[in-house]
Amino acid sequence: MLGAKEGETKPIPSQEKSPARAVTQEWTSQDAWAVYQLPFNDLLFRSQSVHREHFDPNRVQLSRLLNIKTGGCPEDCGYCSQSSHHSTAVAPSKLMEVEKIVAEARKAKESGATRYCMGAAWRNPKPRDMDAIVEIVGAVKQLGLETCLTLGMLDRGQADRLSAAGLDYYNHNIDTSESYYPSVISTRTFADRLDTLSHVHEAGMKVCCGGILGMGESEQDRVDMLVTLSNLPKAPESVPINMLIPIAGTPMAKAPPIGPIEFVRIVALARIMMPASFVRLSAGRSAMTDEMQALCFFAGANSIFVGDTLLTAGNPQDEADRKLFRRLGLEAL
Ligand code: SF4
Repeated sequence: MLGAKEGETKPIPSQEKSPARAVTQEWTSQDAWAVYQLPFNDLLFRSQSVHREHFDPNRVQLSRLLNIKTGGCPEDCGYCSQSSHHSTAVAPSKLMEVEKIVAEARKAKESGATRYCMGAAWRNPKPRDMDAIVEIVGAVKQLGLETCLTLGMLDRGQADRLSAAGLDYYNHNIDTSESYYPSVISTRTFADRLDTLSHVHEAGMKVCCGGILGMGESEQDRVDMLVTLSNLPKAPESVPINMLIPIAGTPMAKAPPIGPIEFVRIVALARIMMPASFVRLSAGRSAMTDEMQALCFFAGANSIFVGDTLLTAGNPQDEADRKLFRRLGLEAL
């Protein structure tokens, strides 16, 4: 690891405990792998120590996600039920009306969410979509919610427009390592992904970017994904770590599941490598035990999606989450 010795953490920013911080430390694949392989107790002690330097360890940020345009996507992401390349039960829909989106966002706010994430199953937004998207951002922000969109690839002009509309975060996951990427998606490249991330960053928006574990990738691929993220010009402010939900009809329907310990190790490594970012437990929580989620929180996860669906996949019910938070003494951020 450059700039920090084993056992040391990076300097603590003097500002408030905020995710907005440039990362100056370069990670190599070898250095990250060495940390990933630490004895489990040492790894978690280190990640929890880093976590406490940057965040309240007992507060977790809640986000809600709404699919504003479902299915019929021309991309062929091997894990996704919304790709038109796969035979799944998801039926394509048009972009939801603004009033319906705002009504859902209002409900999310009333149930405690502070960030509202909206996803559309597109390769990229078409020029004709942009007016409606800008209107949606403005209307949801007026409710006092942070806004996040995931619409596929953006050019610089689109990124500038969304930034001017006040969009807080843009989600665009790299999914996995650069070397495993062609095994997951063939309709775009890893470099395409990085281009959009660069447009989002340069347009002044916060970046939400992470990946999916359990797609048949190696442990080294998972570590290398985090190396790419942490070495971006600025580490993503939000890092979603998803556990694959195998979906019938997709090429990954029978992917071997990732073990809970291996999953927690990646959460811990993400916390250590990107100390000031929100690390979010995203898809796959419905398949995790309470104990596994508790270990993830201990490892440094401090954001979750709430609600009973996550795009087209299941997610723990609100009541189950409230009960888990009570048992663990966690509070919403
Ligand atoms: S993950 Fe997104 S881009 Fe890929 S197929 Fe699904 S909706 Fe399309």
